This record gives sequence, C-alpha cells and structure tokens, in this order.
Amino acid sequence: MAQVVLNNVKKIYDNGFEAVKGVSFTVPDGGFCVLVGPSGCGKSTLLRMVAGLERISSGDIHIGERKVNEIEPMDRDIAMVFQNYALYPHMSVYDNMAYGLRNRRTAESDIAGRVKEAARILELSDDMLKRKPRQLSGGQRQRVAMGRAIVRQPAAFLFDEPLSNLDAKLRVQMRGEIKQLQQRLGTTSIYVTHDQLEAMTLADVLVVLNGGAIEQIGAPLEIYRKPASTFVAAFIGSPAMNVLKGRGEGGTLGIGEARLALSHPVSGEVLVGLRAEDLQPLSGPAPGSLPVKLRYVEELGAHRLMHGEIGGQPLVVSLGMEHAIGDEMWFGVDPGAIHLFDAVTRSRLPG
Ligand code: ATP
Repeated sequence: MAQVVLNNVKKIYDNGFEAVKGVSFTVPDGGFCVLVGPSGCGKSTLLRMVAGLERISSGDIHIGERKVNEIEPMDRDIAMVFQNYALYPHMSVYDNMAYGLRNRRTAESDIAGRVKEAARILELSDDMLKRKPRQLSGGQRQRVAMGRAIVRQPAAFLFDEPLSNLDAKLRVQMRGEIKQLQQRLGTTSIYVTHDQLEAMTLADVLVVLNGGAIEQIGAPLEIYRKPASTFVAAFIGSPAMNVLKGRGEGGTLGIGEARLALSHPVSGEVLVGLRAEDLQPLSGPAPGSLPVKLRYVEELGAHRLMHGEIGGQPLVVSLGMEHAIGDEMWFGVDPGAIHLFDAVTRSRLPG
C-alpha cells in the first residue's frame, strides 16, 4: 500500500487543449479519494495519467516512494476497475480473475488461493467462477472486475465510473460494497464519478474539479458545509444549494423586498447560498423572514420539496410531511446557515 501524490500535473492534448491545469493533491496511504465534477472537467484524464494510460505533459506523480511518470502501466503496481468491466468474454470468471496474475508469472497454487479468497470476500460462488461473464448479471460482472483488482494486491485501486452501467438500486448496493471492501482491505483508492451522491458517500478526500482545475478539496461534509464557491455549492448536495442575488446592507441582507439578519456585516452585491433544509417554515409573515410564492411541489415520500420563488428568483425548500404547503409561505433562516459569495468571483466570502 502507498500514498499517491500529484504535484502540479498538467495535460495538454496534441490539439493544444489543456484538459488538466496544474493539479496537486495527496491521497494518504489507505485513503479513499474521489474525483468528482461535470462531464469534461478532466477527471478521467487525471485518473488515466495516474494509471499510465495517458502521458503527463508536466508535473509529477508518485505512487509510494516511486515517481511513476515514465513507468509503464503494467509496472505501476495499480489495478483499475472500469465502467464497462473490461472482462474477457471467452474466459471463465476464474480465468478472468487469474489473468493478471498469470501474466506476471505467479504460481498457479498462489493464484488459486488468491482467487478463492477474493471470491469469498465478494460472495462469488464456485459455480459462478466456472461461468462466462455473459452468464452473470451486471452487478455480478462488476464484482468480478473488482475481484480481478483485489487478487493483484496492488498498491492502489483506480476506479473509473465503475457503477455507471448499473441500475439505480444496484448502484446504491454496490456503492456500499465498495466502501466496505476498501475499508476492509485498506487499499489506497482513487475513484472517478460525476455523481455527487456517490462521491459524498465514498470519499475520505473529495476533489471537486471544474474545467481542468481543482475547485475545492476536503472531507465531504466539510465541503458540503462550507463550499468554496457557488460552483461547489450548486454541485455538491441534492437538491442543489439555492443561490440568490442579494445585497449586504451592514448587518442585514436584502433579497428582493425581504431583509435577513446577518452574523457578519457585508455591503454591496453578493450571492446568497441557502440549503433547502435550512429554511424553517413560519406560521405567517414575520420580520426577518423570507416570503416565498409556491410554483409546484415534489413529493418524495419521506419529505417534500417546495419549488417556489422570491422576488422572481427560484428557491427550493425541503419540508417534512407534517407541513401543509400554501400558495405563499414565510421562512426563517439561522444567520449561521447563510452562505455568502462574491458577486463577481463567485468565491466564498470570509466569515
Ligand atoms: P466525462 O465524465 O464526460 O468522462 P471527464 O471529466 O472524465 O468527462 P475527460 O475525459 O478527462 O473528462 O476530458 C477532459 C477534456 O479533455 C474534455 O474537454 C475532452 O473533450 C478533452 N479530451 C479528452 N481526450 C482528448 C484527446 N485525446 N484529445 C483532445 N482532447 C481530449
């Protein structure tokens, strides 16, 4: 096992496009790092550079003590799990799992022991080991792909959107399995996804990417609670954080006609971040509350989302099932739950 360190890593493709713009971060030994961001932000390019499948234009990557920039993928001591499983259709599940070890001339007796142990951990029966990949379900195939990574006992696992081909229910189940497996094996992991919920639930270290650069890095809850920019605020969390135009007037904040109390004075145009669950319904109009006009409601079973507007700006509020929803409602906000961002740079304001 090993820590993985990226130091000012850049990728410029042959057509001159800079897909990764000087990215640095460290995944501690045994840590689970998730790279998350919208399509095209450069997460797969970064992962492929760690794997050695893509050349690094500048910067360094270390896996353990070794700088791996010039080391072949095969010799980097990593195992990769892909979205499409990348299993050999003509080989049995057993042979698929054994393949990488045979390539490295591992003794058959050792291979048998490792495949058996991986199959036990992943609950793949002896009968399944004899089947061809096409005779397995999508979830079972993904488990075989993981088995193939486990038997290698690598310094690091690299996951490239491994759950994207599974249905929603199976994704949640496999997400839990991957998390438990990684905790049990303690293998340093880097995992790429565009799904913020998957990212939140799996990561110890969350790296939010935007346009080839790191927007924010930290523990998932830290990022959720203190997004560094409106981009992160809108990307991490479901529903997305509300971001409204507002105006600081010393100790109060104007949003349309409403005035909210602030814990720190600000002045001038700002962007105001409010999480849907931080808005508290009041029984009627009150000073320091937000009046919200109803547009429509989404019933989610355990709770409901009220989609409304304030001064022409959309706002989503999360409400318990016990709250009746009216055409106009008033909400209170704890000053500590108000996030403020610079109106121009869209970065979080201090305080
Ligand atoms: P997705 O979630 O859609 O896979 P991603 O965040 O993984 O997106 P990358 O695949 O890393 O994004 O691509 C980053 C950017 O680099 C994109 O704008 C993409 O079009 C560009 N890109 C990828 N491969 C090449 C290439 N071989 N030549 C030129 N540009 C490329």
